[in-house]
Amino acid sequence: MVENFYNYPLKSLNTIGFDVSARRFIKAYATQEILQLRYDKDFACGKRLVMGGGSNLLFTADFDGCILQPLLQNIDIESSTSEHVRLRVGAGVVWDELVRSSVERGWYGLENLSLIPGTVGASPVQNIGAYGAEAKDAIESVEYVDLDDFAVKRLSNEQCRFGYRGSIFKQELKGKVVITQVTFCLSKRPRYNISYGSLREMVKQLGGENLCNVRQAIAATRRSKLPDPADLGNAGSFFKNPFVEKSLAEELLKKHPAMPSFASGSGVKIPAGWLIEQCGLKGARRGSVGVHPKQALVLVNYGGGTGCDVLTLANEICQAVNDKFGVKLEMEVNVV
Ligand SMILES: Cc1cc2nc3c(=O)[nH]c(=O)nc-3n(C[C@H](O)[C@H](O)[C@H](O)COP(=O)(O)OP(=O)(O)OC[C@H]3O[C@@H](n4cnc5c(N)ncnc54)[C@H](O)[C@@H]3O)c2cc1C
Repeated sequence: MVENFYNYPLKSLNTIGFDVSARRFIKAYATQEILQLRYDKDFACGKRLVMGGGSNLLFTADFDGCILQPLLQNIDIESSTSEHVRLRVGAGVVWDELVRSSVERGWYGLENLSLIPGTVGASPVQNIGAYGAEAKDAIESVEYVDLDDFAVKRLSNEQCRFGYRGSIFKQELKGKVVITQVTFCLSKRPRYNISYGSLREMVKQLGGENLCNVRQAIAATRRSKLPDPADLGNAGSFFKNPFVEKSLAEELLKKHPAMPSFASGSGVKIPAGWLIEQCGLKGARRGSVGVHPKQALVLVNYGGGTGCDVLTLANEICQAVNDKFGVKLEMEVNVV
């Protein structure tokens, strides 16, 4: 049965820790319950938001509408061969629980995405990625409730139009669907992806290639680089790494020979953290919010800050990077 709450506090439901509330908060445990919401005028016709764990959300005010949190908890084996296993996983499963259980059962494909906060239902939305892997590499299809006609629909991997930190769910279908189930295809044959940074060396030091060692190496790297929201409120990388035209990258490299850059398709990717650091903003503090002193891509809430404070700081950063490099930064975080 759906659970309804009114004037629901969201402080513990957004990892940056803003003290906001939702006029109405709905927890749904089954697709059928979400389908029934078509008869609920407040939800079907009013202002609404679907959320998972709140690790990629920036609330700028109390939410004067309905927030729906799908909490479907299944991890079902749909099919299994000697090569692959196909898993159908409920939107409410904690992402790292899925990764942990896959690693423990010897299934390859999610281990590089260890410790990413949030839920399975959000994983296709921005095609979560880390350490040379992306969710799209393992996602076979995504099932959702269309909030226009309250019908259950399914998109194949190709139809999801996954890209760097993006998908159809961040474009045409933004705000129009409730993702309920994600189907993953994982390999039973060893398949490591450890060429990123010093991963291979770390795995070697841990005793060699196996899934647990890869997960452990990723976890150690993440813990050394990213602030834990339990200690310091943050929403992970605040900006996407920008892709610029080759000609602009060449021009910038002449002026800044130390600039890290990675050719990718027709463009060149530049780490946003490096650009922010070069503007002297790493560690900058504006009242209760700031840029993390060790990771310029992460904006933090030292306590008592607001979403508007963070947006003001984000605008200052965008302006500074644009003025110095002529590069436009785009936010990765979803502003509500
Ligand atoms: C410390 C930290 C580290 C992070 N590291 C990474 C990283 O390495 N790589 C990476 O890609 N991301 C990273 N993130 C961002 C975040 O973990 C991911 O974006 C994650 O997928 C968000 O999941 P969530 O359940 O918290 O989604 P939420 O923050 O609740 O929602 C995010 C977006 O997805 C939508 N959404 C959520 N669930 C559903 C659903 N069931 N149906 C439809 N729409 C939905 C929401 O409306 C919103 O637009 C990090 C965040 C933090 C705080």
